[in-house]
Amino acid sequence: MEYEIVIGLEVHTELATQSKIFCGCTTKFGGEPNTHTCEGCAGMPGTLPVLNKKVVEFAIRAGLATNCDITRDNRFDRKNYFYPDLPNAYQVTQFYHPVCKNGWVELKNKKVRIHQIHMEEDAGKLIHDPYDDVTLVDCNRGSMALLEIVSEPDMRSADEAVEYLENLRAILQYTGVSDCKMQEGSLRADINLSVRPMGQEKLGVRTEMKNMNSFKAIVRAIEYESRRHIEVIESGGGLVQETRRWDDNKGKSFAMRNKENAQDYRYFPDPNLPPVHISDEDIERVRAALPELPGAKKARYISEYGLPEYDTEIITRSISLTHLFEDANAVCNAPKDVANWIMTELLRLMSDSGTLPEDLAFDFASLGKVIALVNSGKINRGTGKKVFAQVFSENVDPEAYVRENNLALVTDTAAIRAELEAVVAANEKSVTEYKGGKEQAFQYLIGQGMRALRGKAPANVVTELLHEIIGA
Ligand SMILES: [Zn+2]
Repeated sequence: MEYEIVIGLEVHTELATQSKIFCGCTTKFGGEPNTHTCEGCAGMPGTLPVLNKKVVEFAIRAGLATNCDITRDNRFDRKNYFYPDLPNAYQVTQFYHPVCKNGWVELKNKKVRIHQIHMEEDAGKLIHDPYDDVTLVDCNRGSMALLEIVSEPDMRSADEAVEYLENLRAILQYTGVSDCKMQEGSLRADINLSVRPMGQEKLGVRTEMKNMNSFKAIVRAIEYESRRHIEVIESGGGLVQETRRWDDNKGKSFAMRNKENAQDYRYFPDPNLPPVHISDEDIERVRAALPELPGAKKARYISEYGLPEYDTEIITRSISLTHLFEDANAVCNAPKDVANWIMTELLRLMSDSGTLPEDLAFDFASLGKVIALVNSGKINRGTGKKVFAQVFSENVDPEAYVRENNLALVTDTAAIRAELEAVVAANEKSVTEYKGGKEQAFQYLIGQGMRALRGKAPANVVTELLHEIIGA
């Protein structure tokens, strides 16, 4: 029988605010454990939360950029549960009135609907120390601002899930809502997955895998879990609605807890936080300040620069690459060349060194300078690649680097002619042989000429001038 995989994603993204959601503590990644904390985010009795206005603005930005309706009267609710990394024993979230509803994200062949986006606080972190057999608590991450973005179950394959996540990440980065660094946990996804016989309307039993933080792991987890569902169905067994843990090293998922002992979180409105009203003016102000979004940028790159769609897809996937493209093109005014250098040389250097687009640290105009040097014939392409590798790793200035290392092609025809005349004078025998019909002798003279010029003259110019000097 043929089966259809049905996937919905819950994405948690840590906001790029300077301070946490209800106190003034820094949101910087890392730091000594429990140094980015205060009485408030450490859950001490007697403290009161004060909402960070920026969080609401970021939520509106994310909502508008994903075509959502914005809720005017917002409240915060308490989700009660005990866990050692949550000193209050409740998480402040939005259960009854999420800030954004009913949006969508555009993929190549479909729209993935957004069910809702809500604001909430993050929990701290538990650090298990197997050596001393203890578990320690670090509250640095506690009470950082999060948006949870919940999609409808509209995806049908691992590829679609990845495309949705890539597009959503681009939107969040473009709008400055989050840096979306998956390796630092600022973008994590829970996968809700079920399978059903092709053509059946009713959804199958759903399992959930939490806190996935790499695209590779997400693809493997979806492939494994959908296969497991199909095997259980085919063998006549029953699937259980449950949360499962994905172990990327073992390449398997394991049952964590099932619905029977699912917690009752006893949600209720947080009495310490007043309602937040979002006015039409607030929304229009945020809308007016929205930057060009990935879809619009892609369309503009095609119409304004004549780039192929394929190139624009690769470049607009990351805000950093669009900055690189635009800064470099402003210098050399050769859009297709810039796209080519990004897709070949840059991506190769990035993959060799494990560098992410957001971590590119060189002056973006330098790529334009390298391309201008190659296109104007000042250096050849091979030299250009070497210079760009130096730009990439050392942030050298291409023009200074070419000058200091004497890499420029000799373009002064008189200087080239002088060198070649000396070569001809020193190799009378070869000249005579060539005039007598021996073609190889001419190749020898070219070799001698290039050697005298240390390979830095254009080959066609050398050939042409040699013919002139010999007179044959
Ligand atoms: Zn704090």
